[in-house]
Amino acid sequence: MDTPKTVKILKFNPKNCNGCLECEKACSQVHFKSDEGGSKSAIRILKDENSYKMHVCDQRGLCIDMCPVGALTRRKNGVVWLDKETCIGCQACVGFCPIGAMRKSDARIEPFKCISCGACVRACPNDALELVEVNIDDIREVVYHKQGAE
Ligand code: SF4
Ligand code: SF4
Repeated sequence: MDTPKTVKILKFNPKNCNGCLECEKACSQVHFKSDEGGSKSAIRILKDENSYKMHVCDQRGLCIDMCPVGALTRRKNGVVWLDKETCIGCQACVGFCPIGAMRKSDARIEPFKCISCGACVRACPNDALELVEVNIDDIREVVYHKQGAE
């Protein structure tokens, strides 16, 4: 398989967000067939003083190499994917994720994460979310910089 060069990631425009959480409800429908949002949503919108901030997987894929059973892979479209059938629920990826975006819900043993499906983008009534295509090499460099490595 050709190695993917780009991936779509979520971009947030806090100026447009009013905290309605329709995005979280749409996401929990995708992952749990529930409109609860919150701990069942891979995207979280958090109050940040007078504004909002988005917390979600950025598809960097640093977790891929640390899954002991190979349940985490990068798909053809570049998205980091957790295969529920292969996962043994060890939670190593949840503890490892540098930005805490591999989620765990009480509803099931396997973690879950953003798959860049765009359900939240479509659900947002205020155009606060979009999917943008980025170069995978570029997002890898950003995390190394943040971690202080050369
Ligand atoms: S919880 Fe599943 S996907 Fe995560 S590291 Fe363990 S086996 Fe891999
Ligand atoms: S649906 Fe849009 S406006 Fe509502 S909380 Fe999510 S990002 Fe903000």
